[in-house]
Amino acid sequence: MAILDKFKPQQAAYTAMKTTGRDPFSVCFDEVVTPSEAVLKGRRIILLGTNNYLGLTFDRECIQDAVAAVRQAGTGTTGSRIANGTYGDHAQLERRLAAFYGCRSAMVFSTGYQANLGILSTVAGRGDTILIDADSHASIYDGCRLGGAEVIRFRHNDPDDLHRRLRRLGDAPGNRLIVVEGIYSMLGDTAPLTEIAAVKREWGASLLVDEAHSLGVLGETGRGLTEEAGVMDDVDFIVGTFSKSLGAVGGFCVSNLPDFDVLRVVCRPYMFTASLPSAVIASVTRALAHVHERPELRERLSRNAHRLYRGLAAEGFVLGPRVSPIVSIRLPSSEVAIAFWNALLDAGIYLNLALPPATPDNAPLLRSSVSAAHSDDQIDAALEAMVGIGRSLGVIAAPARRARD
Ligand code: PMP
Repeated sequence: MAILDKFKPQQAAYTAMKTTGRDPFSVCFDEVVTPSEAVLKGRRIILLGTNNYLGLTFDRECIQDAVAAVRQAGTGTTGSRIANGTYGDHAQLERRLAAFYGCRSAMVFSTGYQANLGILSTVAGRGDTILIDADSHASIYDGCRLGGAEVIRFRHNDPDDLHRRLRRLGDAPGNRLIVVEGIYSMLGDTAPLTEIAAVKREWGASLLVDEAHSLGVLGETGRGLTEEAGVMDDVDFIVGTFSKSLGAVGGFCVSNLPDFDVLRVVCRPYMFTASLPSAVIASVTRALAHVHERPELRERLSRNAHRLYRGLAAEGFVLGPRVSPIVSIRLPSSEVAIAFWNALLDAGIYLNLALPPATPDNAPLLRSSVSAAHSDDQIDAALEAMVGIGRSLGVIAAPARRARD
């Protein structure tokens, strides 16, 4: 058997999907023109499947700062944070992040994926237990796998199940770390954080919240679900990313634990990879200031999310349980989802196709991510296309014929 033969089933499924239309996993834009528009094979399309929640990828000031930084500091650091890869800008961004969250410390990682990988594999070791929500992101699963802790999954968004599992552990030795997300990336639902925090207190566990999709989106000042739920004091680690609302790339973790900074010399995914280039640090620093100073971006995002969610719900689509910038349509089968996705692209709308087993309850999904940069017209154009295709594929019912009077 050849070394890659074990992937024959995946290869067959992938080939079958590609023969029914375009390959949804290798879309290659000719050009991205604005935060909400791109050119694909010579045609202008609406981008409704990015994580560009605040539309900051083309922000004038973020670009200016990034350009100034690349001129001043060069294209890359060519080294890790513990060698030659920490510049004053990295340290300043860490101070700004800590101040933004009102926390003692912050660490910047090269991606959000690595932030989860690093924190989870390091803070929980052999003899400890990590309790993760069943719908956790791949980076959380992989971080658990990389460390030596026992891993227990609890039912998605079910604090009672979490409580039962902690009770079953009893007073076995070792620390417990609970891991949840602010907004879940597939259905856009949020963790019941007040209840989770209560369970955490009752059992003396630690709590990590991944705010990848909720930074800049939820909370009075954009700090995320932790702020919205008012449980900042109960959260030991907040992990986040620069690749969504902040429009760049990179990740971070903030914490109030007094010894947090020891992680800089024991956390391997922080220590053994090149640090972010100064241009990225500069645009992220400016984007973070925008989150702080421009609440109107959050308001616009929320308006757009409501517009799309309400429009789809009114037509009978089955959606996630809460209005959020992630608006996912549940579809009856992968075949329908693939056909729907292709028809939408033909109509000039790009969004994400999510197929089992990567989805909650193994439900095929079409995932939209709304941006503050979308205009009403763009949201309405997407809605119209979704409704038309939804009807023609029998996903939603055609409107009842009006009786002639
Ligand atoms: N956590 C969650 C919940 C995510 O959805 C993602 C990205 N999709 C990440 C972490 C990883 O972030 P990054 O893209 O910065 O690696």
